[in-house]
Amino acid sequence: MSDINYISTRGNSNPLSFAGTVMEGMVSSGGLFVPEKIPRVDFSKLAGLSYKEIAITVLTPFMGGFDGGEVAACVDEAYTSESFDIPEVVKTVPIGNNRYVLELWHGPTAAFKDVALQIMPQFMRFSKVKCADKSRTLILVATSGDTGKAALEGFKNREGISIAVFYPHGGVSEIQRLQMATTDGNNTYVFAARGNFDDCQNGVKALFGDGGLRDKAAEHGVKFSSANSINWGRLCPQIVYYVKSYLDLVSAKAISYGDKIDFCVPTGNFGNILAGYYAKEMGLPIRKLICASNKNNVLTDFFKSGEYSIKGREFHKTMSPSMDILISSNLERFLFEMSERDAGKVNDWYGRLAKEGKFSVDKDIMERMRHVIEARWVDEDEALKTIGEIYHESRYVMDTHTAVAAAAVGGVNRDNDVPVIITSTASPYKFAPDVLTGLGIKLGGDEFESIKVLSASGAGSVHRAVDGLTEKKVLHDKVIDIKEMRSTVEQLLC
Ligand SMILES: *Cc1c(COP(=O)(O)O)cnc(C)c1O
Repeated sequence: MSDINYISTRGNSNPLSFAGTVMEGMVSSGGLFVPEKIPRVDFSKLAGLSYKEIAITVLTPFMGGFDGGEVAACVDEAYTSESFDIPEVVKTVPIGNNRYVLELWHGPTAAFKDVALQIMPQFMRFSKVKCADKSRTLILVATSGDTGKAALEGFKNREGISIAVFYPHGGVSEIQRLQMATTDGNNTYVFAARGNFDDCQNGVKALFGDGGLRDKAAEHGVKFSSANSINWGRLCPQIVYYVKSYLDLVSAKAISYGDKIDFCVPTGNFGNILAGYYAKEMGLPIRKLICASNKNNVLTDFFKSGEYSIKGREFHKTMSPSMDILISSNLERFLFEMSERDAGKVNDWYGRLAKEGKFSVDKDIMERMRHVIEARWVDEDEALKTIGEIYHESRYVMDTHTAVAAAAVGGVNRDNDVPVIITSTASPYKFAPDVLTGLGIKLGGDEFESIKVLSASGAGSVHRAVDGLTEKKVLHDKVIDIKEMRSTVEQLLC
């Protein structure tokens, strides 16, 4: 098989190798890298194999230019027993009524982003050599809370790489803030920026698009890259767990290989659910992907009306902050596929979004999307109620993001004979106070008191990512304005 190259959703870049796309992150003039074709893989023989073995099978066709030993080295280094607290890396748990929860939060920071961000530094290590890139790589990250810490843990103390994280000041939970602020490592920088997540993400995108800044960086021997899910190297490792979880159901004899199932995904930037779409296109028997949103329901409206509009839309802070977002970057990759890879159309839509704050897609695209996606949004009360209900039904404690998805499953028009896997994106300990509220436990104390109470309420042992956080030393406490992001990065160049 010839190697898969990566092309821009907006048709404005030369094709790149896997290594090239990992190093570039995104197209500097806008546009995201996508594989020029989606490989088909026969997953039917993989049931019973380990996470690492499945990962190698899924990732290899995307990683042209990497030999078998190199792919295996990336996978081996990433999914160690040191980084993940269960040997199977991810876990599929039945919660009754043909519903399953796919726990993706057994990594070092208690969020699903670890699954990708533990392996991405490995991709980068090899990619730098393959691209003969001698510069220092400065990873720029915008985070709504979870990516930041997961990226810091993945990249800290890596040779030839530094990482700068920008999070919305006052827009993340205290646990998330402390997780980031206490990160050690000789190459880590963390900044609270006065703005919301979209401001941070737009700020980082602007830094990538800033030719002057790029030239200045080059003078200092520095190149920028990204660890957000706009980077293909971050996205493709997420395909693996869809396959693993499907095969878990086969191994458990809940389904036979070939039976179609649904996945429901608590969605923000559309990265996680997009990985599910790629899994489906690779041949995994997925029927529908349910796109669950919180009150920031721009995606639900889009899938209903065909119009993506951020005009006059209010940004809501919710109990599922990692889904508080107006511009879901990875939708662009999905629309590229839905438009039958029409880069001209994508270019036009995203030009409109930047200029007019909205765009509309045609009827045939709507029709195609309807075959793949169901969308539903869930308000705060419904999410909390779901935490309590599921606990009473099956003694399972889930976090606030997972609860949005679980609630969406309850409300969406679906065939209950089809099993549904709810991707669980964070440990309940990461959002302990709200989880307790959902469980009907009233509490006066702070987040750390909540963690103690939660562990006494049947949520299992405290996740090590939040255990002892208050005793750790705060090493990062800088607060900046959004417009200072550029000068802040400039200072890191020297
Ligand atoms: C990042 C995140 C999400 C959203 O995932 P996307 O890939 O951005 O759609 C949902 N839940 C949690 C806990 C997250 O950290």
